[in-house]
Amino acid sequence: MPRIAALIVAAGRGERAGGASPKQYRALAGRPMLRRSVEAFAERADLIQVVIGADQGREYEAAMADFDCLPPVGGGAARQQSVRNGLEALARHKPDLVLIHDAARPLVSSALIDRAIEALADADAAIPLLPVADTLKRETNGTWTTVPRDGLLRAQTPQGFRYDAILKAHREFAARDLTDDMALAELAGLKIASIAGEDINMKITTPQDFATAERLLGAGGDFRTGFGFDAHKFAPGDHIWLCGVKIAHDKMLEGHSDADAGLHALTDAILGAVGAGDIGQHFPPTDAKWRGAPSCVFLEHAKTLAREAGGTLVHCDVTLICERPKIAPHREAMRARIAEMLSLDIARVSVKATTTEGMGFTGRREGIAAQAVATVRFA
Ligand code: MG
Repeated sequence: MPRIAALIVAAGRGERAGGASPKQYRALAGRPMLRRSVEAFAERADLIQVVIGADQGREYEAAMADFDCLPPVGGGAARQQSVRNGLEALARHKPDLVLIHDAARPLVSSALIDRAIEALADADAAIPLLPVADTLKRETNGTWTTVPRDGLLRAQTPQGFRYDAILKAHREFAARDLTDDMALAELAGLKIASIAGEDINMKITTPQDFATAERLLGAGGDFRTGFGFDAHKFAPGDHIWLCGVKIAHDKMLEGHSDADAGLHALTDAILGAVGAGDIGQHFPPTDAKWRGAPSCVFLEHAKTLAREAGGTLVHCDVTLICERPKIAPHREAMRARIAEMLSLDIARVSVKATTTEGMGFTGRREGIAAQAVATVRFA
């Protein structure tokens, strides 16, 4: 496997975007734009090097706190010099390939990153290109002429290179003032492959671009998933509570509260999605206050914590594991009850059931187990 470095260029001042700090450090749908750009490469890159502008150390630390990448290096007066500084800093790590990317393109997809890496298997350089869809005009002293767009293409980043080849080109043509690295590759006569760019991989420059990107991110969003598990054992009785529904049965479930294993698992799943501990922490079984408590109280609390954390619960899925009672006749009532408690559309609530084919404690009908998954969307 080639050793892959991502070089993120964040040295600009980004003045056209407005705002007090350079645009790459500003929050885009809740996270700094630079951080979004860097995180896009985390899965495929063995090394991540960011190039920052003079006096941007504090902003960098605030944006990238606790993210594992190489210490930032300072940029130069122009983009070409900034990239060169980054490439030189990577030299001691000996990468095979380098993906050079503008921090102002935080919406780069993993598919595009993969295409760039794949193209470098038999090329020295890979460039994402897109056709020009709009009709182009050139203005000269208040008059306009139409520019034929035949053959015109838009270049994006990440631009991928064999590391040694692009470093050599940067050193050789340091005196040229070029706006992208592919221009250096052309000068150096490298073998260049084109790959498909993506419209969503927009370069964020103006306040309007920020608004567009935030809308796009809003449609996707930052989703977090939590998982919960619970089990309660049977005791003599005549009904059980499961997923907020009272079911006549020849046993009851034993527990400090109403022992609703389904709602307990679901409560833990929601707490898990927002990193808020577990049900036992919030409602200690040692506290007499919760004796016989209806489990909807626990679920309501988890829902409130999710909302206070800035999250919106968007989906949940509960699996009940038991031989008896049969869950199917109660499934729709359980979905409706959970949907009501969580203020969710019923389409976003799933309740499933299974047996363990007679195996284990649920198979021996000693009790009921439940698993749940909850998905919470953050801005
Ligand atoms: Mg429990």
